[in-house]
Formats: sequence, C-alpha cells, structure tokens
Amino acid sequence: MTFRITILGAASARPSASKNPASQLINHCEQYFLVDAGEGVQSRLMRVGVNPVKLTAVFISHLHGDHVFGLFPMLSSLGLMGRGAPLHIYAPRPFGEMLEAHRKFFDPELPYEIVWHEVDTTKHELLFENNALEVWSVPLRHRVPTAGFLFREKRAALNVHKEAIGRYGLGVAQITAAKRGEDVRLESGEVVPNEEITYLPRLPRSYAYLSDTNYSAKAVSLVRGVDLLYHEATYAADLKAEAKKRGHSTTTQAAKAAVESGAGRLIVGHFSSRYKDWDALVEECREVFAESYVAEEFGHFDIELKPTPEAERM
Ligand SMILES: [Zn+2]
Ligand SMILES: [Zn+2]
Repeated sequence: MTFRITILGAASARPSASKNPASQLINHCEQYFLVDAGEGVQSRLMRVGVNPVKLTAVFISHLHGDHVFGLFPMLSSLGLMGRGAPLHIYAPRPFGEMLEAHRKFFDPELPYEIVWHEVDTTKHELLFENNALEVWSVPLRHRVPTAGFLFREKRAALNVHKEAIGRYGLGVAQITAAKRGEDVRLESGEVVPNEEITYLPRLPRSYAYLSDTNYSAKAVSLVRGVDLLYHEATYAADLKAEAKKRGHSTTTQAAKAAVESGAGRLIVGHFSSRYKDWDALVEECREVFAESYVAEEFGHFDIELKPTPEAERM
C-alpha cells in the first residue's frame, strides 16, 4: 500500500551543478506517475531506480520550460525502449502544438501511443482514476495557465465485524454485499442495517501538488484536509511584492496554505536560484507551520496508512 512522493527536482527556472528543475515521482501501490518534467528528468528517474517505461501517466502543471523541458527527450527514449502501452499526458492547451512539432521533427513513428488530455486550468475536475486513486486538477494563479494536482485515494472496501458474522450466521454472499455497503437480509427476513455490522478499515490518503502560483485561497479550499501538501516557495518572506508580481509565493505564504488547508505536512521547493541555503527558507515556514520540510532532491515522503479509530480498536 505504498504512497510515496520522490523529489526528482526542486529548483526553479534553471538547473545548477547540484540542483534540478521541478519534477516529482508518485508511487501509489506500485503505479508510477510523473508530475512535471524539468530538464534531465530521465537520468533522475534512473537514479531512483525507476524505468520510465513503468510510468502510467504524466501530469504537467504548466508550460514553462522548468516544468516541461525534460519530457520530450523522454518520449523519444520510450520509443527506443520499445514501450507498447499508451502514455497518458495531462497538460494545459498549448501542449498539443509542442507535441506535434516534436513528433514531426524527432518522433514521426513511435511504437506506443501518446494520449494528450487537455487540462482546463480554470476547473477543479477529475482527470484520472483507477480502482484505488483519483487525480483532480486544482486551478492556480500563475503568469500562464497553471493547474495543481490532487491525488486522492478512493474509500477502501468496508470490513465486516467478525462478531457480527458469528451472531447472524452470515454467508459469503451476505458478507460480500455488506462489504459493498449494502444492508443484509437474513433468512428470517430481518434486515440488518449496514452500519451495524461494518466499519471502514482506513481513511483515504491524499497528496496535493501546488505548482507555481500566487497564494490562492481557492486552491487551499480545494485541497482541505490533505495529508501531504507540496507548495512552491520561490521567495523568502521579505520578497512578498516580488512574489506577487512574478506569480509566485513566499515561504510564509506556502506555510499559510498548509495551515489554512489543515494539511498534515508541508513540502516546500521551487526556490529561486539566488538562495543557496534552503534550510533557512524552511525555517521561515516552520515559524508558521511546524511540519514543514524542504524538497530535498532524491528525498522521499511516505504517506502512511491511516486506520480509522474503529479499526484500531479491533
Ligand atoms: Zn517554475
Ligand atoms: Zn512557472
């Protein structure tokens, strides 16, 4: 039941000898998702031991180079690696033109299909789902159309109290129905309400990636209760006016987003290249929100399973 966020890059605008532009790898139950794809993302995926062939989907927050320059060479490599499965890419509108130009000049023939899903950055919409996970767009406020992404688990199947199985003599069909949330009809004709015999084993976990943005009360409200929040913090607290002008946030604004959304933990990154000491920036966040952590490259954050109080008593 892995839910792990690995930081592949957390710098802004341009790479340096030791820092790479924005990219993260999400592993949810051994399904891999790439979120943003700054320059050099292929080699960083290899360094964390993940073959890009394994990627299910790619989510691009916006079309600034520091978030997308690494994607196109990876599309070519996937062809050389013989990928067969379609690759789903979620990105705002101008992406289609970029993809077309890349394909025309570099990849006119690929052994796999690239499926581009246009992200409407003005809407909070369901973009992707499988049997365990949903990914939603979150409108952000940047200089170009930009979306954040909310990864939210679906509710787990219900468990049936062992004691209830014995008491009512429930059979397999009745237990299966109860797990689906249905009331159970006994042989006597009596109907037992579902909530009397079942409990939720664990709470759904969630992760929100709020890419380049001014502080947005709307975005914060859309990710309320998130377990782990990534929020950009391009500038230190004293450069609030600069941050506003450039469509970015400060450390204290990122921390405020964590407080206002009720997040469990906060990851901050996308620091301007003017800052060499990232720890000092995180300290500014901690003055507002104690559970703040730097997006250290190649570091990872696990979101642990969260049993319900009822399941813990079992
Ligand atoms: Zn950026
Ligand atoms: Zn940007």
